Amino acid sequence: MRPARLLLVEDEEALGAVLADTLRREGHEVAWVRAGPEGLAEARRGRYDLLLLDLMLPGLDGFELCRRLRAEGSRLPILMLTARGREEDRVRGLDLGADDYLPKPFSLKELLARVRARLRPARPEAPRTARLGAAEVDLGAMVVRRAGAEHALTRREAGVLALLLAHPGEVISRTRFLDEVWGYERFPTTRTVDMHVARVREKLGDTGPEPRYIRTVHGVGYRFDPAPDPVADGDGAP
Ligand code: CA
Repeated sequence: MRPARLLLVEDEEALGAVLADTLRREGHEVAWVRAGPEGLAEARRGRYDLLLLDLMLPGLDGFELCRRLRAEGSRLPILMLTARGREEDRVRGLDLGADDYLPKPFSLKELLARVRARLRPARPEAPRTARLGAAEVDLGAMVVRRAGAEHALTRREAGVLALLLAHPGEVISRTRFLDEVWGYERFPTTRTVDMHVARVREKLGDTGPEPRYIRTVHGVGYRFDPAPDPVADGDGAP
């Protein structure tokens, strides 16, 4: 996969340098320009995957830059960076076609999470229902039915399960769970992911020493295994 191409429009020298450096360390290609008109010209070249856009800029502010790009039909994802925390600015930015908004000061970890979220290709949909051994998962109703009982799933538990079911056989890292299920609003620890997975396993009845459906990938995360060993099938199904 080629590195993502990011366009950073930021006139604060010190902040711009830290952002460009951080994003490059993450493996992205970063073009950094410091003024609005230059940013617009660069964005129009159409070679970028994401625009990180400061609001207060010399020459042309971030709102106007965003408005013009969208008026021209550009679909470049835009993440607005701004010192203004006022809600009307956030709403205005989103109304003008920005995809996301990050109020300064923000942590670099939060910035990187938002960039990852913006760069991620459209995700496959998790199936709404799935049968895992004796358990029937219904993500629409947010329940697991098993042995005649219904176990309600919390929103986070359903999110964890949906992410796993959407990517059978794929290792999902704890960081990715945090990005996709918890979002970037807050940063719980990776231990939170483990606790939620444990609860989901309990509801599925997948609690042996070697869980069959949600496998632990040590040091990394979890993997949904849709084809468990039939010999170990103890639920009475043929
Ligand atoms: Ca500025």
